[in-house]
Amino acid sequence: AAPRVVVIGGGFGGASLARALRREDPGISVALIEPNAHYTACPLSNAVIAGLRDMKAQHFGYAGIEADGITHVPQRAVRVEPEQRRVVLADEARLSYDRLVIAPGIDMRFDALPGYDASASQLMPHAWKAGEQTLLLRRQLEAMEDGGLVVISAPANPFRCPPGPYERASLIAHYLKAHKPRSKILILDAKDGFSKQRLFEAGWAALYPGMIEWVGLSFGGAVTGVDAGTRTLRTDFGEHRAMVANVIPPQRAGAIAALAGVADRTGWCPIDPVSFESRLVPNIHVIGDAAIGGAMPKSAFTANAQAKACASAVIALLRGRDPDEPKLINTCYSLLAPDYGISIAGVYTPQNGLLAEVGGAGGTSPLDAPASVRAEEAAYGEAWFQTITTEAFG
Ligand code: FAD
Repeated sequence: AAPRVVVIGGGFGGASLARALRREDPGISVALIEPNAHYTACPLSNAVIAGLRDMKAQHFGYAGIEADGITHVPQRAVRVEPEQRRVVLADEARLSYDRLVIAPGIDMRFDALPGYDASASQLMPHAWKAGEQTLLLRRQLEAMEDGGLVVISAPANPFRCPPGPYERASLIAHYLKAHKPRSKILILDAKDGFSKQRLFEAGWAALYPGMIEWVGLSFGGAVTGVDAGTRTLRTDFGEHRAMVANVIPPQRAGAIAALAGVADRTGWCPIDPVSFESRLVPNIHVIGDAAIGGAMPKSAFTANAQAKACASAVIALLRGRDPDEPKLINTCYSLLAPDYGISIAGVYTPQNGLLAEVGGAGGTSPLDAPASVRAEEAAYGEAWFQTITTEAFG
């Protein structure tokens, strides 16, 4: 019989992996478990929040995946029985596997920030999973009066999309500058530094002078609790009352990871950096945001790169070969305005059991660059989105 691979999660990681498996070895049977009829992509969703992009441009269906001969199982995986090598679905049906790949993305840790739970997120949206939350934050910004204070609270590392909160602040500023120019944005941060910081700060000074204030951990940036009813955010240094509050809470691997036994006490999933096999449960691999194992940032680019490397490793293992050592690339583009993009890139290889960054191989956009370079990078970011969504969803 054909070897069976079951994939949980049809996002950038799981969808890319399913297709890579079929491409590389059509003799393998692949089932993709994903409850949603279409995927809603996070990259460029900050442009939706800023009114620059239609939400429909974020939607991708699974017809392309099915056309590749992959079975889309439109259900939620609720349990894994590793001993029997079976995944249990919401309707209690079971799917057997030779190898299982788990790519469930993240869940918010609604136990981490006092006052911030699922119901509070209806008043103070996180908008860190694209969809209803994205549109809610958009509506709140539209309803806000000119002169209002928008507060964004950013979590400590690790979290999904390290430059994301700062891209969001930039694009919200772009909207406010045009429509509510007396408004301000305050970023309360649980860290003392962030991805592409000097590039963001230089861009903010040029594009939105005086509009965005960033407060790091040492200066009272860490939010210690919230009151959703009054949109108040507490820190050790005092309270901030927002007109619009975007609380991006601490995160962990999607819940199925813990249910399958592949998440450790940190909430993330330790993996072998060559095969992406779980360090905790054999025959289960974890890729994308849910995985940890070194320096790779949690991005769609990373999830796609890990998907391709993991697909090769899974095929090798199923066919009785040793997997090759992967070399993985990540690039993250961020928009500060529609025609102003910046990027950061890195290369990662297995080293001492972790995915380590290769020194001198990556870098960021130049700090001093003419407007034409920023415009080119904005266009590259858009082209990247086209490429990666076509690769993942067809
Ligand atoms: P996801 O894409 O979240 O996919 C997980 C899938 O698993 C979902 O479809 C979910 O429904 C499914 N699932 C979960 N649990 C189950 C279950 N029990 N059973 C079945 N299915 C399940 N990255 C970039 O590279 N570039 C960017 O510019 C960028 N911008 C971003 C901007 C924002 C505002 C945000 C929030 C993120 C951004 N990212 C960006 C990060 C990127 O979205 C994530 O890193 C990426 O989606 C991770 O892919 P994944 O496959 O691990 O998880």
